Amino acid sequence: MSRYDHTLGVHAGREDLRELGVHALPVDLSTTYPLQDLGTGTASLDALVAGQAEAENPVYARLLNPTVSRFEKALARLENAEAAVGFASGMAALTAIVLATQERGREIVAVRPIYGTSDHLLESGLLGNKVTWTTADKVADCITDETAFVMIETPANPTLELVDIAEVVRQAGDVPVVVDSTFATPVLQQPLEMGAAMVLHSATKFLGGHGDVIAGAVACSESLAAGLRQVRVATGALMHPWAAYLLHRSLPTLKLRVERAQQTALDLADRLAGHPDVERVFYPGWRNDGQRELLDRQMSGGGCVLAFEPKGGYRAASTVMREVSLMTPAVSLGSVDTLIQHPAGLTHRVLSEQGRESGGIGDGLLRVSIGLEEADDLWADLTAALRAARPATTDPSSCAGPIRDASPSALKTA
Ligand SMILES: *Cc1c(COP(=O)(O)O)cnc(C)c1O
Repeated sequence: MSRYDHTLGVHAGREDLRELGVHALPVDLSTTYPLQDLGTGTASLDALVAGQAEAENPVYARLLNPTVSRFEKALARLENAEAAVGFASGMAALTAIVLATQERGREIVAVRPIYGTSDHLLESGLLGNKVTWTTADKVADCITDETAFVMIETPANPTLELVDIAEVVRQAGDVPVVVDSTFATPVLQQPLEMGAAMVLHSATKFLGGHGDVIAGAVACSESLAAGLRQVRVATGALMHPWAAYLLHRSLPTLKLRVERAQQTALDLADRLAGHPDVERVFYPGWRNDGQRELLDRQMSGGGCVLAFEPKGGYRAASTVMREVSLMTPAVSLGSVDTLIQHPAGLTHRVLSEQGRESGGIGDGLLRVSIGLEEADDLWADLTAALRAARPATTDPSSCAGPIRDASPSALKTA
């Protein structure tokens, strides 16, 4: 199970600061670096273009940036990985995985649901790949000689379904398994210990934690990292040093933030499950069909995101989103403040209707990323919004304005 602790979270990637004579993380914004001599420059450039993590001279910031490297080393320690590679966004990180593994083949086996844009990237074939969608129990049946990697996301977005990482790894055999662990963070889950080859993070979410940085990262073996760095050098989807600084600055509080928000999420999931205007609640391990046992085996907690369906479907969901005042009605997750959004209309809108259906993403579903506010304040906000959404009280005169019919099916033709 998770070996993440506060000491590691606070000190990872700061080991040399005392020696450097500084206390805060240094930021290096150089785009180019003075060369000692041409020979050193050439040797360094060759090493970095080949995907090495370090060289005597960084040469050019697209090849290496010390502030980004420092964050990568910290994240690698938190994931118990040999290496981590930072990118401009979570999507840039997934793009690099697809490109770097193409020599194995161009087929990807993936289990739905995954993040909407990840689904779209794989499904569109934009990067010259094909995708076979399957369920976690049928991964083995879908693997061919051309399979580049198996992609899973757990907990999955937005239904919080858990996928058994060790079991998927077993089915995948020698095909690498990529786990999007954005919702779990290294605090709650360490997929490499269960045999995954790569852990993908949208660092925009919990790792950043304050809603002010877009970034992505992959933790993996040094040899896989070399391939990812080669793609990064060639495509330029870099993590900016300011982003790396902000992410690294947020790591010491990651465990505090996740554990506090998780406690509130559990509390609110419980209260929602008992609320008369709520149809269904989704939270990791919530169902009794083996998901609870899987949660205990694979994670040290269910995390900070829950989802629920208010009674009254799409109309009720859109009213709740409009009526909350403490919660922020916005996409994204993992921030210090609580965010509420409608997956079918927003984050998972790019999916086909069938894709949403097979992923269990209904028109009434709301996803809530719990922040650090007091649970009672969030509950008061939610219950007031639910009251406003109650079918009997939604007569037109009680509405601030007309409800635009933005149901996913209506928007599709727009
Ligand atoms: C947000 C998100 C992504 C995409 O990351 P960006 O940083 O927005 O590019 C990928 N996976 C999951 C689970 C996400 O929540």
